[in-house]
Amino acid sequence: MANWEVERVHEIEMRSDTTTQPTDAMRRAMHDAVVGDEGYGDDPTIRRLEELAAEKVGKEASVFCVSGTLANLLAVMCHTIRGDEIICEDEAHIFWYESAGLALLPAVQPFLVTGDRLRVLDPDRVKAALKPISSGPSRRVLCLENTHNRGGGTVTPVETMRRLYDVAHAGGLKVHLDGARVFNAAHALEVPVTEITKNCDSMMFCLSKGLSAPMGSMLCGTKDFIDQARKFRKAVGGGLRQAGVVAAAGVVAIETMIDRLPEDHKTARILAEGLAEIPGIDIDLESVQTNIVAYDVSGTGMDAPTYVRKLASRGIKCTSHTQTRIRMVTHKDVTQDDARQALMIIREVVEESR
Ligand SMILES: *Cc1c(COP(=O)(O)O)cnc(C)c1O
Repeated sequence: MANWEVERVHEIEMRSDTTTQPTDAMRRAMHDAVVGDEGYGDDPTIRRLEELAAEKVGKEASVFCVSGTLANLLAVMCHTIRGDEIICEDEAHIFWYESAGLALLPAVQPFLVTGDRLRVLDPDRVKAALKPISSGPSRRVLCLENTHNRGGGTVTPVETMRRLYDVAHAGGLKVHLDGARVFNAAHALEVPVTEITKNCDSMMFCLSKGLSAPMGSMLCGTKDFIDQARKFRKAVGGGLRQAGVVAAAGVVAIETMIDRLPEDHKTARILAEGLAEIPGIDIDLESVQTNIVAYDVSGTGMDAPTYVRKLASRGIKCTSHTQTRIRMVTHKDVTQDDARQALMIIREVVEESR
């Protein structure tokens, strides 16, 4: 056992795909990475990652960020001025989970548009939201999210994306895509990822989720946009030095981990179909499109926090979205057998609570 290995009891970890352990190939690449001072543009491994990421999503350039939150923040800082509004879906990650960064740094306000049941935005509703009242703030960015996290990993179809881009661009807005899990979306939609990304002005994707790298997200866009984002990254303390050691894992993530994502979708499907058969669990199977399984447990007599606690005591980790909704996320460290095992335990826990 190498000294970095820790003994772990077998838990079925489904709180998030951010919990994925780096692969052996990643650890080797990290060990062998050629690095330099990124502040001087001297880290060849970071350069390689940035070129690879940009090429993958069909953009001119990209910048390595420590997190998706930082990448989204930099994008908004580049696209707006203080006092603007950005349009986003009302369950958007950027609105819910990014620590009020929009207020803290770019000092913009989110203008929320409600999506449908699967959190897909209606282009007509976005169109109606483009123009604030006269003398009101400028709405300068439309922020899309595909797959949609709180929606339960749901995808926005390519044709809807195209109409959303058209509406926003016609209104003079930039479009930023929060594509934390955009490769999951591409697999689910069965299109090359560039079909989803090609019309957006900027986009980010996470290396640290299903792609299993230890950290990092890539912000991608035009060369000018990325130059500006790099300046802001430095200003907010996100400048890097010999970070090629972690960028190396990101290269492996892009090269080897994208094609296997459908396995996670398969595991999620097994889990979802099993859950649908458990009395008291209410799950919309249509919403299970990628690697997130969201469902309601009010019919079990337990609230979501109680359910989470009981499963945790039996070795199954998940999270709650709301007082009644549960979220389970599949990834490379959850096998199909784990999913079946989890279903057995869930069935027992639900029966015991009746
Ligand atoms: C995880 C996630 C982010 C943020 O990424 P962090 O690296 O956790 O900061 C942004 N948007 C979506 C949709 C996400 O799922």
